[in-house]
Parts: sequence; structure tokens; C-alpha cells
Amino acid sequence: MAQKKTTFICQNCGSSHNQWMGQCNRCDHWNTIVEEKLRVSSKKTFAASSDHSAPRPIKEISLQETPRIALTEPELNRVTGGGLVPGSVILLGGEPGIGKSTLMLQLSMGFPKGPVLYVSGEESLEQVKLRADRISTGSAEVLLLPETDVELIADQLKKNKPGLCVVDSVQTLFSPELESAPGTVSQIRESAHRLIQIAKQLGVPVILIGHITKEGQLAGPKVLEHMVDVVLQFEGDRQHMYRLLRAQKNRFGSTSELGIYEMQGSGLHPVSDPSQIFTRPRDESLSGVGIGIGMEGARPLLIETQALVSTAVYGTPQRSTTGFDSRRLNMLLAVLEKRCGFHLGSRDVFLNIAGGLRVDDPALDLAVCSSVLSSSGDLPISLDIAFCSEVGLGGELRPVSRLDQRLMEASKMGFTEVVVSARSKLENPPKGLKLHTLKRVDEVAQLLFG
Ligand SMILES: [Zn+2]
Repeated sequence: MAQKKTTFICQNCGSSHNQWMGQCNRCDHWNTIVEEKLRVSSKKTFAASSDHSAPRPIKEISLQETPRIALTEPELNRVTGGGLVPGSVILLGGEPGIGKSTLMLQLSMGFPKGPVLYVSGEESLEQVKLRADRISTGSAEVLLLPETDVELIADQLKKNKPGLCVVDSVQTLFSPELESAPGTVSQIRESAHRLIQIAKQLGVPVILIGHITKEGQLAGPKVLEHMVDVVLQFEGDRQHMYRLLRAQKNRFGSTSELGIYEMQGSGLHPVSDPSQIFTRPRDESLSGVGIGIGMEGARPLLIETQALVSTAVYGTPQRSTTGFDSRRLNMLLAVLEKRCGFHLGSRDVFLNIAGGLRVDDPALDLAVCSSVLSSSGDLPISLDIAFCSEVGLGGELRPVSRLDQRLMEASKMGFTEVVVSARSKLENPPKGLKLHTLKRVDEVAQLLFG
């Protein structure tokens, strides 16, 4: 006999409460608590698996490489840490319309170990087919399943034993065991739980597509992020042509890698030379632009920092940043003011990282300082110079990690001069690259603007 139960669940953090409240006392969000009817099934969902629960001596456990299914697509391969692990569950989050379905359909059609079961809970089969025709790459057998009942999906998984299963989206799923509506936290949690069980049981990798709410969180985010093995984030402005894929959590690899795609009519194309897209074609010099050499994961990347410094119209000067930490900018401005004598305190400063990128690499500090000084004096920086140094509170230039790799990238992209910290250890700088090894920010200003 099933037993009926009512509970109040926060749709933001997934915590359950005994009564309704206006504000969740766990995550402090307002109006997120919803009454959900749960039917607690009398049958056990966890079958005791006797063969897995016996303890084993640690010495006997061999450290083999995690087996992976390598993907044909280089960016996805990099971000997942070398391919998909059988039986793993991946959550792909992103705003609606950003291209999650396109990316997953592309992955499915090029998947090396078919067939692929593509569960579409949102779009009709015809819509998926239309998109597939537009992409038309890869030859994997893709089985489309228009279904939202997680038990029926589980049946199809058992029956077809696919090489991969994609669910678009996890918010449309429901379990007939529960009475609450699809999209509520308890439904998402239960459905995901069921699919994780099946994935482990059959050794099939499962990708769950999840939409992000306006606040930037997945519906029922904490619940799902804890349950799955890998959380991938697909982001980028809809106005921008580029999409960024990064791992927020990865039980099988690092989370520092970044995949970059260009959105075109025929689908998402991996960008093999990302430095090119985050900097302008270097044919005209503008004031307020400084090129820094950052790292995204293991990849060096040339990044254009743009600053606009103008006289404050109102009493309080404005400070505004896009893609850069605003507290870090304020610190750098204070350093320029106090240590180097540039009067920026009464001026508006706007800072933008080109291409919709978000960066937190301290090696970009000097590029930011330089673009601010360039805009402030309306003096363009030579197109041949890139910057690669952290700036300390005393105005001193500090060395950065993996300098050789960064310098190689600058050289490859056609820069002939790079400003680095005098304390940098240079092992093997690229030939033909002139290095300015300086100690302080004011020396950099002297070098650039005389
Ligand atoms: Zn909450």
C-alpha cells in the first residue's frame, strides 16, 4: 500500500520543511517553498546488491586508468577530461536557447559507440530531426524517444542498451511514483536518481540537460549537483557568436578546462585558435586597449582588456566591470593612484573583457592597468605589445605561472614584445620575442607613454 504524505520543498535549494514559509531558512530565497504531495512507495527502490557491498583490502584494488569513451569532438573531450566514463552521469546546465540541445545532438550523431538514445521531452521528433539535418555530421545511429516518464525511459534503456543516453531536459521528467508536478524539486530529484541507478547498472553514460533559472541556478540545483558525477556549464551571450563550455565539477578530471565554440547556421563549431577571437584584428590602434596573456585551464589565451576612463559627471565616480572582478579593479586603481601618482579617484572607470569572457587570472592585472592608463591619457598602446604580470599592492610586478607557455602563445599570435616582471624565471623564451623585464607599474607607464 502506498502511503500519502505532504511536504514543503524549497524549489531553489531542495530543502524540505514541515510547514510553508515565505522565506526559506536554508538559502534565504523568498517564495520558493512549494507544497508537494509525495507518495512513498512501499516497494524498496534500492535493491541490495550483495556482490558490491563486501569490503575489499585496499592493496588489492588496482589503479587502472578510468576507462573512457573518447569523443570525436576535441572541445568536449578536453572539458570532460578525455571522454565519457561508462556509467557516469553528466549534468549540462545553461540558459534556455544557448544551444545545449544542438551541442548534445552533435555529440550524439558523432558518438563513436552507438546507438545513442536521445530522449526529447521538450521538442517534437520533427523538430529534433530538422535540427539534426542542419547539423548533419557524424554517422552514429541515434534513436529518438519522445518521453517524459522516467520509468518508461528506464525500460527503453534496458531494452536498447545504448552507448549513450541524452535526456533533454531533466526538468520535463516525472516519476509516476510521485504526485507532484514535473519540474518540481522532488520530481527532478527522483527522476535523476532513477536514471543514475540505471546508468550505473548498465554502464551507460547519461547526460542530463538542465535549464538554468534567471538567478543563474539550475532548478533544484544543489540536489542535482550532488548526485551527478560531472557538472558542465554552457554559457555565453546570445548576442555573442561564441559559447563557452566549462566543468564545474568533475569526479574524473580537472575543472579548469574551457571549451570554446562558434555558433553558426550549421551548428556549433569548435574554435581551435581561441586567442584570435578574444582579441581584435590588430590593424588600428585605439587608446584604452591592452592585451594580456591569460590561462584558461591548461591553455594560454590572449585576452583583450578594454578600459574607458572619463571625467565623473556626478560627485561619486562610477566603477563598472564586465568579465573582471570589480574589487580587483578597485585595488588596481588604488595602486595606480597611491603608488604611481595617477589621479583616477575622481574619474569614471569602465572595464570590459572582450568576447564575453569572464577571467580571474592575476596575470591580466598589468594589461588592465595599462589599458586604464592608456584610456586615461588617450594614448594608444603599440599593437606589438602584450602584458603578462600580476600587480601587487606596492605597485610591484609579480611573476606568473607557466610563463614560457604564455610567451609561446603571444609569439604565435604575432606579438613581438611582452612586458613581464623582472622577477620572472625565464627558462626558454621564444626567439624573436623582445621581453621588457620591469619591476614596477610606473616603469611600465614610462615604457609605454614616455
Ligand atoms: Zn531554500
